[in-house]
Amino acid sequence: MKTLLTGGAGYIGSHTAVAMLEAGHEVAVVDNYYNSSPEAIRRVEQITGKAVTLYEADVADKDAMRKILKAEMPDCIIHFAGLKAVGESVAKPTEYYRNNIDTTLTLLECMKELGLSNIVFSSSATVYGEDNIPPFYETMPKGVCTNPYGWTKWMQEQILRDAWYADKEMSVVLLRYFNPVGAHESGLIGEDPQGIPNNLMPYISQVAVGRRDHLTVFGDDYDTPDGTCRRDYIHVMDLAEGHVKAAEYSVEHRGTEVFNLGTGNPYSVLDMVKAFGDACGHPIKYEIGPRRAGDVQDSWANADKAREVLGWEAKRGIDEICRDAWKWQSTNPQGYGE
Ligand code: NAD
Ligand code: UDP
Repeated sequence: MKTLLTGGAGYIGSHTAVAMLEAGHEVAVVDNYYNSSPEAIRRVEQITGKAVTLYEADVADKDAMRKILKAEMPDCIIHFAGLKAVGESVAKPTEYYRNNIDTTLTLLECMKELGLSNIVFSSSATVYGEDNIPPFYETMPKGVCTNPYGWTKWMQEQILRDAWYADKEMSVVLLRYFNPVGAHESGLIGEDPQGIPNNLMPYISQVAVGRRDHLTVFGDDYDTPDGTCRRDYIHVMDLAEGHVKAAEYSVEHRGTEVFNLGTGNPYSVLDMVKAFGDACGHPIKYEIGPRRAGDVQDSWANADKAREVLGWEAKRGIDEICRDAWKWQSTNPQGYGE
């Protein structure tokens, strides 16, 4: 199968490129390197020994995308390209709505022109909102999002669903990721956040490697066993393998389907701090701080549907997550920037 990965040089896209190539599929990537480096794709090629066709373009640039899609005519497009920082989306809502919605509309318009039907989309557990109680099922109504980033995912899901409704020859697969973490076991590719990390695992990794002094744990007064929030942390290679199954499914089925990609197992902030300390061989220094605005106490998946329909389930646990994140961080302390 020929696949085109928008945003494929990014964190999840690069790991998915490895999984796709290892499953025997062809991979082309289009990225504008807004939040990534072509070095990630060079390393994907190093890991797999296979070539990736690489295009530098903005996915919202219709002329460029028309040419790229015409040249590739992929069996399936996996749409990762987007802006993803929750806090930044509150400060720059227009940029987030423009980029995330525009890339999706441009892709859909080009797909229609060229008769391309199959798309897999990077959505997020954030669409379950604040009021649903975990575990989250795909059949739950989408909730009220707490920030513009979340709303872009909510809206992109709706746009894609409506596109299918108007054209039943389409296949739309909406993947709701829980908390993707970790790195490829080679340590050659991993998450490379710009500036101060917003997310827990990259922050812990940078404390472990000495780039930051300590972690601030956002609140220890939640109604959980240790008082800290719980999340469903999924190894990025498990997530990547989920995309292989989803892309294969997309070419064989028509319709719109939603799948949670999570493990179904919640872990607290302090569980992750402890596991990372075990993996790197020294304790992670932390302080307890106030709650972070907009955080939900608990979020984890019911992952039955992906197992039953796609034949996929997460295989790696938090020890492997921390081991692989540490390997990436300790061998690339400045990310791809070195
Ligand atoms: P990332 O920032 O590492 O990757 C996104 C990629 O898209 C980057 O390489 C960036 O340069 C590229 N990009 C952005 N706008 C573009 C545009 N207009 N044209 C071309 N390229 C563009 O992020 P990621 O963590 O790999 O996330 C991938 C997708 O998954 C995103 O849509 C994100 O919202 C979604 N997602 C991520 C998480 C997470 O925790 N990482 C959770 C849920 C959903
Ligand atoms: N968190 C924390 N300190 C940090 C970053 C995150 O305590 O520096 C907590 C955060 O409050 C949440 C969990 O770690 O409970 C996961 O946060 P992340 O931003 O990684 O994911 P999300 O909140 O989007 O699920």
